[in-house]
Amino acid sequence: MDERTSDPAQPGTQSVVCERCGTTAESLPVTWTCSVENGGRHYFCDDCARAHLRAIESRLDSSWW
Ligand SMILES: [Zn+2]
Repeated sequence: MDERTSDPAQPGTQSVVCERCGTTAESLPVTWTCSVENGGRHYFCDDCARAHLRAIESRLDSSWW
């Protein structure tokens, strides 16, 4: 019998890596932020997402006002 009882790689289960600090997670945590830029997905962990949002907000402030 050649039945495969276990698959090492399961489809849909991908590890994600934070673009800024390199933190890895087995699955995308809800606190992480995913941004799509130039057709590529970029993930940011909770801490980096806050810093990233601050940078975005500051940029928006300068451009909005
Ligand atoms: Zn990070």
